[in-house]
Amino acid sequence: MNRVKQVIKVSLIGVVTNLVLVAFKAFVGLVSGSISIISDALNNLSDAISSIVTIVGMLLAGKKPDKKHPYGYGKIEHVSALVVGLIIFVTGASLLIESVQKIVEPELASFDVPMLIIITAGIFVKFFLGRFVKKRGEALNSDSLVASGSDALFDVAISTATLAGALITFIFNITIDGWLGLIISAFVIKTAIEIATDSISHIIGERIDSDLAFKIKKAVSKNKEVLGAYDLTLHKYGPERMIGSIHIEVEDRLTAREIHLLTRKISEKIFNDFGVILTIGIYAANTEKTEYAEIKKEIEKLIKKYPGVLQMHGYYVDSDKKLISFDLVFDFKEKDVSKIIDEIKTIIEKKHPKYTVNVVADTDFSD
Ligand SMILES: [Zn+2]
Repeated sequence: MNRVKQVIKVSLIGVVTNLVLVAFKAFVGLVSGSISIISDALNNLSDAISSIVTIVGMLLAGKKPDKKHPYGYGKIEHVSALVVGLIIFVTGASLLIESVQKIVEPELASFDVPMLIIITAGIFVKFFLGRFVKKRGEALNSDSLVASGSDALFDVAISTATLAGALITFIFNITIDGWLGLIISAFVIKTAIEIATDSISHIIGERIDSDLAFKIKKAVSKNKEVLGAYDLTLHKYGPERMIGSIHIEVEDRLTAREIHLLTRKISEKIFNDFGVILTIGIYAANTEKTEYAEIKKEIEKLIKKYPGVLQMHGYYVDSDKKLISFDLVFDFKEKDVSKIIDEIKTIIEKKHPKYTVNVVADTDFSD
């Protein structure tokens, strides 16, 4: 079974379980006339809705790319996680308001045996459901499943607090469920904000996982013609579709034919192993002239003095134009990139007056 089908299956289990709870609680609530059971039923309804949102998101995300959206619809998964986050936020906010009201105007919670049984049964069902959904969500790398799993686990906490509050009222004749609700609502709201900011962060675009970056660079560097692999970028369009680019360094004597065969081979390998569509750019490396190698060593020594420079690569000397060029990858924290470049240029040009120096500042896209 593919990932989409599995996520949908887990969500369907969530929908059905919650709807059964809703029907059951609504029935008992209406028969016994207990408002707290009816409101508990409504809360289960919001969980069913968050599972439905996950399913709809999954179905939309799985749509094939088309002319208008050639990168596919994978990012919709993050949007549905955001919606689930908002649903959780509403749950937390309404609990907060309710709890404050209870603290301001405490009222002895009316509780009876059917309510006790229903809430206890609900707690067990939701506990196992929430744990199951969250675990599967983590295994399937689905933000929205993890979010609806957390949603269910919060309901367990809320119901447990209701139950504890009722018992304490029964035994000690004091009401504390307002305070309990207040504490829980703080957690619910915190989680809702975390889920929402997490999905927004995914939509904005995050740094690639350094393990994946390392593996891709290693696979590219395995080819003996590749002297180095740099500037890896990856754009994610949903958890399963990635497009990116990389620069490789090869000897300047390679022909277009050899480069063509090499880059084709690398692209195919990376697509098969990682599902990444990788565009490959070429840096040439001087094959002859030890003089150039010596200048390179000097530059390497020089840039060690700048902690904001993370890497130097793409070094090449154009012997016709007497042009030395290379890239420097800068730390995002480095404020004065152009000042450093000017300094380095001046030092090298002073030492080697025959040459002009061209330095390109690269962005630290990946590890
Ligand atoms: Zn570069």
